[in-house]
Amino acid sequence: MKKILCFIIILSLFIITGCGKKTVKTSLDKIVDRDLLIVGVSSNSKPFGFKSTTTGNIEGFDVDIARYIAKDLIGNERKIEFVEVTPNTRIEAVTSSRVDMVIATMTVTPQRQFLIDFSQPYYIAGQTALVRDDSDIFSFSDLKRKSIIVVLGTTAEKNIRNIIPNAKIVGYKDYSSAFQAFKEGKADAISTDDTILSGFLADNNTGFRMLKNRISREPYAVGIKQQDDKKLKNALDVIVTRMKKDGTINSLKKKWHLH
Ligand code: GLU
Repeated sequence: MKKILCFIIILSLFIITGCGKKTVKTSLDKIVDRDLLIVGVSSNSKPFGFKSTTTGNIEGFDVDIARYIAKDLIGNERKIEFVEVTPNTRIEAVTSSRVDMVIATMTVTPQRQFLIDFSQPYYIAGQTALVRDDSDIFSFSDLKRKSIIVVLGTTAEKNIRNIIPNAKIVGYKDYSSAFQAFKEGKADAISTDDTILSGFLADNNTGFRMLKNRISREPYAVGIKQQDDKKLKNALDVIVTRMKKDGTINSLKKKWHLH
């Protein structure tokens, strides 16, 4: 009798706990349960992620993309915590789960795809450079042996090292220090995506000019931690595809004066 009772108790425990199977929470479940989306964004890459001088809040194209995603995933575009990242910290922010995702002018590259997963691209930029108006530099071939400011960890840094190996690279850890150094004349040029350079030109419209050619194609996408289940990636792909189809991306381009 005792044995039968024991057997019944063990059996019911198994049934209650789902036969010993653990339910593993996906990243998507975690976001929904927390009822808050934690997003890594730039704070000095105008017009994608930057601090508003009036409110002090981070705004921009990438911030609006984050709000659209929050609305879709948890039903409220305000339930977001923004964490400032730089090109050098954004991958670690994702792999260490400090953030659920990074939306920060981040280009999809094969090297980065080894470390993190990406959604479908939501924007395509291209790399170019800014020089002073009176400079004799008009193309990338004129940049040989010149000094070029880049932000460390960017595709721009890598491309310049490959394309112009004899250029003198002057590296900074974020865009505010890089642009400040460029304004102070610490190098002949600054190179990164045309989008970010246009943001600088919008605020500093005299004395500088952008080179006409683009030396790369930079597809921006949402970066997330790699995992076995693809639920979050699939959800993001659906959202990005819809944003392109329903005109959201186009109206954000207009709002932030992008092409
Ligand atoms: N989009 C390029 C990259 O991901 C350059 C701009 C940036 O770093 O934010 O490296």
